[in-house]
Amino acid sequence: MSRSIYGGAVFEMAKQQFEQVANHLQIPKMERDRLLYPKRAIAVSCPIHRDDGRTEVFQGYRVQHHLTLGPTKGGTRFAPSVDVGEVAALAVWMSWKCALAGLPYGGAKGGITVDPYTLSPRELEALSRRYMQEMIPFVGPHTDVMAPDMGTNEQVMAWFMDTYSMYQGQTINEIVTGKPVSAGGTLGRREATGRGVAYLVGRALDHLGVKAGDATAIVQGFGNVGSVTAYSLAERGVKITGVSDHTAAYYDPAGLDVAELQRHITKRGQLAGFSSQSTIEPSDLLLRKCDVLVPAAMEQVITDQNAPKLKCRILAEGANGPTTPEADAILDRRGSEIFVLPDILCNAGGVIVSYFEWVQDLQRLFWEEAEVFDRLYRILERSFQQVIARAKHDRISHRMAAMAIGVNVVQSAKRTRGLFP
Ligand code: GLU
Repeated sequence: MSRSIYGGAVFEMAKQQFEQVANHLQIPKMERDRLLYPKRAIAVSCPIHRDDGRTEVFQGYRVQHHLTLGPTKGGTRFAPSVDVGEVAALAVWMSWKCALAGLPYGGAKGGITVDPYTLSPRELEALSRRYMQEMIPFVGPHTDVMAPDMGTNEQVMAWFMDTYSMYQGQTINEIVTGKPVSAGGTLGRREATGRGVAYLVGRALDHLGVKAGDATAIVQGFGNVGSVTAYSLAERGVKITGVSDHTAAYYDPAGLDVAELQRHITKRGQLAGFSSQSTIEPSDLLLRKCDVLVPAAMEQVITDQNAPKLKCRILAEGANGPTTPEADAILDRRGSEIFVLPDILCNAGGVIVSYFEWVQDLQRLFWEEAEVFDRLYRILERSFQQVIARAKHDRISHRMAAMAIGVNVVQSAKRTRGLFP
């Protein structure tokens, strides 16, 4: 494609990764644009009344990557960095992620360019509801199903569901996932991504012959993914030596008390102020020696600058797109030194349990928590085995292997269906 609306560093990164995997899979040139470029992109203006009486307009987006396997699926991000390129890249990654896990979805992602921490609770509700209202013609339980991402949570999903339902004149639980259990959500969704990361870290440790009780971990990001990952790793016996969020970073080789951190976050809403003794420069945190490094915040934090200096055994990507292609090339050269759990495998627990939520909502039949996690771990185990086997067989990195499996699924469905989806 010579020109498109998709640009920026994050989309370029998704494109570069795709080209690499397409070359490996020898996908003919004429099929590549269909596989990479999103089917649809929606841009909306969302006006709200601010508390001080002003009217302000925020830009919102939703990108639906492909319709080949079923409805599209993916989170909604409220962050200052949001633009159509970033959202498109995240939608593309959702596609490979869903395909790798065997879910009947194409990828999607949406977002609003806003710092949610600058909004009052009333303004946040108004913006969430306005965004969903603008999206009503383009989403639906069998068209596109939203979920939380950075800057959104269960409450925002409840407002989305309620706004959509008011328009339909009846409750449509299955329009979004990641809802509170009291509003048609599933048990386990909130913890799903973090517990999935911890499960896969456990499998990687087994693979390397390291006991969880002897391992240390550093977690960057203490939102829904990072905090549950830290908690679940600690539950498995891993010592958490470092954590950070956008306000502070802490490192203590003797181990941090995760329950204490959690209590601090519940009270203050941020890590800053937790301790004055173990503070450390956030950029240094990634370079400390540990067994498991979990980037669980932003894209593009592992770069060609810090990749040569990482001192971890396992890189477990809780965030989407934390490692740049340049950093990947360096990790590849470092060979078996660092065992990478690539994002589309490592953080897939979220969308897998979102799928369970959607299935339960459609059936009006709800599962016990044990059933949710049993099914989740079975899917993650299968994906983990597939990625390891494919990487070995094709002599490629875990990331390339995970993507190759995902891209293959979408490619063969497109080949058998035709041009429509
Ligand atoms: N936003 C999450 C992700 O990036 C979850 C998406 C979903 O549950 O649909 O995987």
